[in-house]
Amino acid sequence: MHELSLMQSIFEIVEAEMKAHGLAHIDLVKIKVGELTAVEGASMQFAFEVLKKGTGLENARLEIEYVPGVAYCAKCDLRYLMEGYRIICPQCGRGGRIIAGKELYVDSLGVDDGEENKNCQKCIKGQ
Ligand SMILES: [Zn+2]
Repeated sequence: MHELSLMQSIFEIVEAEMKAHGLAHIDLVKIKVGELTAVEGASMQFAFEVLKKGTGLENARLEIEYVPGVAYCAKCDLRYLMEGYRIICPQCGRGGRIIAGKELYVDSLGVDDGEENKNCQKCIKGQ
């Protein structure tokens, strides 16, 4: 299963980050997944649940943000959203170059310390 080995790499990155920042546990792992990676979100969630047992990520949840496929046509100097895997430029009909949608990385890690709203600009403005 492709997603399980991907998630294993993500765990290695997260655990290295936790070590670097002296964190014993993590509550939230946010990853970005390009829509052109063919990675299944449900399988990623499943792999996360399996792998997190007995680690500092045991109580963490996984949040997946999908990055749409974007291509660029040099002839038209146009960036356009790809429809699925279609890379054809909507203006001239030539094949463009993929500039987004193939990424897969750890975006951020979260720790719930009960003070998460303290620095929230919206909350401060609302008072
Ligand atoms: Zn074009």
